[in-house]
Amino acid sequence: MAITKLLIANRGEIALRIHRACHEMGIKTVAVHSTADSDAMHVRLADETVCIGPPSATDSYLNIPAIISAAEITHADAIHPGYGFLSENAQFAEIVESHGIIWVGPKPEHIRIMGDKVEAKRTAAKLGLPLVPGSPGPLETIAEAKEIAAAVGYPVLIKAASGGGGRGMKVVPSEDQLESLMAQAASEARAAFGDDTVYLEKYLDDPRHIEFQVFGDGEGKAIHLGERDCSIQRRHQKVLEEAPSPVISPEQREHMGGIVAKAMADMGYRGAGTIEFLYENNEFYFIEMNTRLQVEHPVTEMISGLDLVREQIRIAQGDGLSCTQDEVVLHGHAIECRINAEDPETFTPSPGTVQNYVAPGGMHVRVDSGLYAGYKVPPYYDSMIGKLIVYGKTRERCIMRLRRALEEYIIDGMKTTIPLHRRIIDDPAFQSGDYTIKWLERWLEEQRDTPEA
Ligand code: ADP
Repeated sequence: MAITKLLIANRGEIALRIHRACHEMGIKTVAVHSTADSDAMHVRLADETVCIGPPSATDSYLNIPAIISAAEITHADAIHPGYGFLSENAQFAEIVESHGIIWVGPKPEHIRIMGDKVEAKRTAAKLGLPLVPGSPGPLETIAEAKEIAAAVGYPVLIKAASGGGGRGMKVVPSEDQLESLMAQAASEARAAFGDDTVYLEKYLDDPRHIEFQVFGDGEGKAIHLGERDCSIQRRHQKVLEEAPSPVISPEQREHMGGIVAKAMADMGYRGAGTIEFLYENNEFYFIEMNTRLQVEHPVTEMISGLDLVREQIRIAQGDGLSCTQDEVVLHGHAIECRINAEDPETFTPSPGTVQNYVAPGGMHVRVDSGLYAGYKVPPYYDSMIGKLIVYGKTRERCIMRLRRALEEYIIDGMKTTIPLHRRIIDDPAFQSGDYTIKWLERWLEEQRDTPEA
């Protein structure tokens, strides 16, 4: 059924991103928003708007009855959840579908399986994906944990089955600390996710984070769009992403991409997904799958020429994939910088009112952001206020263009991480592509210790 009106159950840059794809497809949009977001750009641009609650996300963007009611009163025939909020809530997906509304996302059962990281690893193993060595299921007893940790070798990582956003992880350096750190991890997981199930993995010493973008039509066909390298992280959160990875060869891409696409086809996966791996010594290790659009999807769009939100909508309305694997041609290089309203040195949030605002432009420069002069960044949500995405024929040219785009970017009125990105891309290690998930934190420490000349 062709979608004619779509409700965007999200806010910020991703709500605007979805709105843009809809309008390019001739689909009307409904923006739902909290009282703190009445002046947001996507709310201004949407065809219809519904205020669904007060600033607190629990009462607005996570408020399922309010969102369903908004869809019903506006006669929206589809809901796109964006990322975060309700995007990986299988129950929400089921409720949407049970109201006869098209869910722009994967089948609820697949969201459920992949949302439980232990179940996700079991499923990945069955589908033939290589795993990080570790516990085959949840950890039940300390004796069992000790046995598995000894078998895989220390250090090990205790992770929460319901974890997300880099939270709920504990590195255990040696056996004498296993019991106390396991208890801590479980209690933190209970507090943060309402589930104290934990599992154990070998802690990889110095890997890269490499993830594959996949799409399935839900009926046994699936493709991959290559990988993204998201190793530039702080506190297990991505700061800058690029595609392709500077260290993956075309042969590796084809090989691993083929494995993930086949896994998705075998599963009957529907819609967009990301299979995340750690990569060390030329080996891939599955860590998790995200059953939604990712923040960093634009780098894949830049090198594939495909609009991933359009693909999601096509699949949701039953039009299938727009191309075959052979028709996917990746070319050039793209880098995304996440711009946060944060002090670039201490990373403390710095919300405020945008004074002067000048976004960079020119060839192959894309800014996904709802900012404008006079806009007041609300303090209630994530600190990411925009993304700068730049394309170049080669990685070197992409970095040169990114440097000039970062020079042009002016956001007055608050501190942002733009100066941090300028310094990262000027670093020789970044430029050589020789970095791992630990690189940025080590580099930040060094920078703190070396006063500016
Ligand atoms: P989340 O869902 O919380 O983001 P992930 O499983 O995706 O958790 O892991 C987030 C990040 O944590 C990874 O990108 C990586 O930096 C680090 N990490 C996760 N598992 C391991 C591991 N086994 N060894 C080393 N680092 C890991």
